[in-house]
Amino acid sequence: MTRTAKHCIEDLLYIVQNIHPNANGCQIWTGTINDYGFAYYYMHQKSHLVHRLIFEHFYPEKAKNSNVIHLCKVKNCCNIQHMKQRSYDCGPKLSKEKATEIRSLYPSMSVNQLAMQYDVSTTTINLILKGKIWKT
Ligand SMILES: [Zn+2]
Repeated sequence: MTRTAKHCIEDLLYIVQNIHPNANGCQIWTGTINDYGFAYYYMHQKSHLVHRLIFEHFYPEKAKNSNVIHLCKVKNCCNIQHMKQRSYDCGPKLSKEKATEIRSLYPSMSVNQLAMQYDVSTTTINLILKGKIWKT
């Protein structure tokens, strides 16, 4: 389905009408909230996270392969100045224990398989295997 100009304007109006500033400078989404507390919007047969739509609009390049986090910790805040990109690997997904586990599984599992299993990049796996991060 192709997006028409009409769709875009309607979507934009809908989004704008559902965002209201609060005293802390947050732009609060008053529309639907998903189970995780994030602003959520159904459009073009697909659900979208509103803060992500906004971030992608302002920073299309940065938005690729990254999570968008809220610096204000308000999950349904839509203020672009309160958002920051975080690359997938920066989070505390792994622990020292997990890193030890990863080392013990190599080479019976490949770097690619380990990256998939632990949901991190192959770079992260390589760094662990080389003992550059989470040293034992
Ligand atoms: Zn905010």
